[in-house]
Amino acid sequence: MKTVGVLALQGSFREHLRQLAKLDGILPCPVKTTRDLAQVDGIILPGGESTAQGKLLRDFGLLEPLRTRIQQGLPIWGTCAGLILLAKRITDHEPAHLGVMDITVRRNAYGGQLDSFSTSTVLPAVSPEPLPLVFIRAPWIESIGENVEPLAVQDGRIIAAKERHMIATSFHPELTDDPRFHAYFVGQIA
Ligand code: GLN
Repeated sequence: MKTVGVLALQGSFREHLRQLAKLDGILPCPVKTTRDLAQVDGIILPGGESTAQGKLLRDFGLLEPLRTRIQQGLPIWGTCAGLILLAKRITDHEPAHLGVMDITVRRNAYGGQLDSFSTSTVLPAVSPEPLPLVFIRAPWIESIGENVEPLAVQDGRIIAAKERHMIATSFHPELTDDPRFHAYFVGQIA
């Protein structure tokens, strides 16, 4: 049994827990404290609002312990706001939060009419069949470091990437009924 945490301070954590509950051999675990964090074999950072989540991580004393565990190799996947928390660089001189993944992200990158939208695409690492993609005031990945592998590109923009044990997606697999991305992530946990 693998214990898979979901940071449960703000945002779409219930939806992630619901998706994890569909998978065999997985114990989903909401993470609000350092004690919760100590139990998990992998963790998901949900979508929501990255500034609020960054502040809550600091207020709950979780920012440093979480960063330490990631640096020690804890498998982690950030969706949307979670991607922003992982990034080493945010455009427009915004300070980083966890700052562990060698990517530059642009917040709210799809302005105006494309603010929120759904589409689908094939992510070869995840499945040969197209995956539904939901974007909500989503960031995109503006540039990546040399050890980062793009997992999906949409209209010339990187929307999913992987660096060793860290995965980041602009979109929200937790807001669909499709658990394939969750299955892919838990498959990365040893
Ligand atoms: N726009 C949000 C932010 O910048 C992210 C949106 C989301 O997680 N759906 O934090």
